[in-house]
Amino acid sequence: PQSPAAMVFDAVPESAITRGGEGVAPAWVGLAAYRARGGYRLAADVAQGRVPRDAVLAAMEDSGLRGLGGAGFPAGRKWRIVREQPAPRLMAVNIDEGEPGTFKDRTYLERDPHRFLEGLLVAALVVGTEACYVYLRDEYHGCRAILQQALAELRADPPCALPAIVLRRGAGAYICGEESAMIESIEGRRGEPRMRPPYIAQVGLFGRPTLEHNFETLYWVRDIVQHGPQWFAGFGRHGRRGLRSFSVSGRVKEPGVKLAPAGITLRELVDEYCGGMAEGHELYAYLPGGASGGILPARLADVPLDFDTLQPYGCFIGSAAVIVLGRNDRARDAALNVMRFFAHESCGQCTPCRVGTDKAARLMQAPVWDGDTLDDLALVMADASICGLGQAAPNPIRCMHKYFAHEVGEGPWPGDLPPPRGGVRTER
Ligand code: SF4
Repeated sequence: PQSPAAMVFDAVPESAITRGGEGVAPAWVGLAAYRARGGYRLAADVAQGRVPRDAVLAAMEDSGLRGLGGAGFPAGRKWRIVREQPAPRLMAVNIDEGEPGTFKDRTYLERDPHRFLEGLLVAALVVGTEACYVYLRDEYHGCRAILQQALAELRADPPCALPAIVLRRGAGAYICGEESAMIESIEGRRGEPRMRPPYIAQVGLFGRPTLEHNFETLYWVRDIVQHGPQWFAGFGRHGRRGLRSFSVSGRVKEPGVKLAPAGITLRELVDEYCGGMAEGHELYAYLPGGASGGILPARLADVPLDFDTLQPYGCFIGSAAVIVLGRNDRARDAALNVMRFFAHESCGQCTPCRVGTDKAARLMQAPVWDGDTLDDLALVMADASICGLGQAAPNPIRCMHKYFAHEVGEGPWPGDLPPPRGGVRTER
């Protein structure tokens, strides 16, 4: 596949690209350019019945597209579930993009906002949602300006009757990326996750059945329906299907958003899409899914990266934020950083997460870990936390025990690895 920028800008004449002002993305595809390439034809066809809503739903199901915010729930199935709920139905779109290392939604939104808006319109038509609330990360000033301008263009010249589209600004809380916390925030309350059931699809925004989607999931709708579900499903490696937008950062030559086949391995991703490891760095470890997805050693660089493939290793891909560490980096530093982040971002609603993340972060600073206490904390957090933040918080602890025991005094330091700062400590 092409790079995201190439996919967006290919064949768009220079004169048709909107140039942003200072602090705004340098260039994005405006309405005229988007229309010139067939944009909004699908939305008009669905609205006027030339493309049956059932056919769109079937295409979504057959494509295998899964929620790209991190949870990976099949998008088509979600559409069907919400469509079967009583009206009025609502939609909530998550562009909070708070997962450390993730910047794919911003990359696409800064370049091609109408492709996302068309996906939103098609979803609204097929599922029958009356209003769409778009929840945007407040730090994304440039994105907000672009989205406001793109919405104004769309309202001035709509392809069909538009649902109400309401732009809501987040306030910098990581937990508001969790769907029910986001909904609480949109409703004007503290962003705290809800207990489930009932599920958002049944009782969501303002008590109504709600279709909740990540930005990128909607971004692919037009291409999937127009090119056919097999176009999307036809990508993939090592037995996996579809495309993934990997946000790659760390010790690679060319970091950035890499649109690559689902199931690609870390080694293939770095070599084929990132120009290899950065000068002077050799692969040591990687985080496959931002802060939440755990940490894996270099010897597991040939595992396919996709939903479900990393569970046997105690990790998950989430929103596909891949952070690459070299042999001069330490996994324990990354693990501690992640735990401090969780402690800071815990909403405080439940004790295992609020107290556990803070206590774990303090214990993880010791040169030699108190492994038993950390294991106890990890068990309580994983089993008794309300939401995914607290449930995933033990991942760095467990990965350190499993793959990097030498770094926390639980195993011999490998002779070929550069020594740690302060020398090797192996006693409790
Ligand atoms: Fe809040 Fe953490 Fe409990 Fe989630 S697990 S509800 S973030 S305290």
